[in-house]
Amino acid sequence: MSIALPVMPSQFAEAPSRPVAAPPNAKRPGRLIDSHGRTIRDLRLSVTDRCNYRCVYCMDPDFRYMPKQQLLSLSEYVTVARVCASLGIQKLRITGGEPTLYPQLNELIAELGRLEFGDLAMTTNGSLLQHMPLEQWRRDGLHRITLSLDSLRPQRVAKITRTNTTAQTVVDAIHLARDAGFDPIKVNAVIMRGVNDDEIADFADFAREHAITIRLIEFMPLDSSRAWRRTDVVSADEMLQSITGRHKLVPLDRDDPSSTSLNFSFADGAAGRIGIIASVTRPFCGACSRLRITADGKVRPCLFSHKEWDLRPLLRGGATDDDIAGFIADSMWTKQAGHGIGSQDFEPPARTMSAIGG
Ligand code: SAM
Ligand code: SF4
Repeated sequence: MSIALPVMPSQFAEAPSRPVAAPPNAKRPGRLIDSHGRTIRDLRLSVTDRCNYRCVYCMDPDFRYMPKQQLLSLSEYVTVARVCASLGIQKLRITGGEPTLYPQLNELIAELGRLEFGDLAMTTNGSLLQHMPLEQWRRDGLHRITLSLDSLRPQRVAKITRTNTTAQTVVDAIHLARDAGFDPIKVNAVIMRGVNDDEIADFADFAREHAITIRLIEFMPLDSSRAWRRTDVVSADEMLQSITGRHKLVPLDRDDPSSTSLNFSFADGAAGRIGIIASVTRPFCGACSRLRITADGKVRPCLFSHKEWDLRPLLRGGATDDDIAGFIADSMWTKQAGHGIGSQDFEPPARTMSAIGG
């Protein structure tokens, strides 16, 4: 992987501007739609761009964070979530950066729990879970926890995360989360050619052993080192081939049509599931129901958007919930039809994964 200059998202953020207004008939109470007819129901809310890891596919060692004053406050995150709930958002995932580094995470979970989303989840690298009040989170309304683990081999985990952590950290986190009542537990693994693609079938064994869902993710061009190459992507087909060499799988129906993963159980009835997120080789853009809001308050209609819309001036300028709802609806009207990763003129967005919220 070649090393490029670090990306500082704030340098690339759009100057405050307003999206062109969506037509009035696009604005229906309790329903957020885009100009391609997709209904938006799923919010990824990033609460920090900080992280205690430096995963090779995500964040360079010298990645520069956004200044603290640019990040939203607790009450601003809650306002954003409340307005999104009023727009028909049913699922909210708290993410980052590493969300467990957000100092007011407990208060935020309690506030979001009160908004009663159908699904309130969080993605975390799991490294700090032993210090977190997991049972309280569960009582406060957090439904699910997804962990990240990209190798089962100690030296490799250290190399990928550029820390001295081991897979045991995530195994411990699985037990802690389960003891606190979180179930099912999902574990994400980004698969990269020549890095961890020899462990795909081992990840299937790991899912069986720990009765979790392992979600194998195709590497996306969102790394801050800009080292992504199409040839680094291990396709869903290759992943399936590796697993079926060891275990017979049974395809499962998508629990939700906008679900990003191809899901499988084991034919022998063993516990555990496999999910494959084939964002590159089998894009699911046509059914995408997602909206992303970054830790500094930018509305990103697509993970790969080049244009993002700044909510912060409204949040800090006394805007009403209706004003904010109108702004989010107009922003989402600009959602692109697809990410276009396969096209000749594809350019990755300036803002990279850790500053967007995965
Ligand atoms: N820090 C937390 C974690 O790692 O779980 C949450 C934020 S992280 C950005 C969310 C998810 O995005 C992780 O599961 C991570 O593996 C995934 N991710 C990060 N960079 C990626 C990339 N370039 N391609 C595919 N997935 C990526
Ligand atoms: Fe941090 Fe998550 Fe990115 Fe790894 S993937 S560097 S844990 S934000």
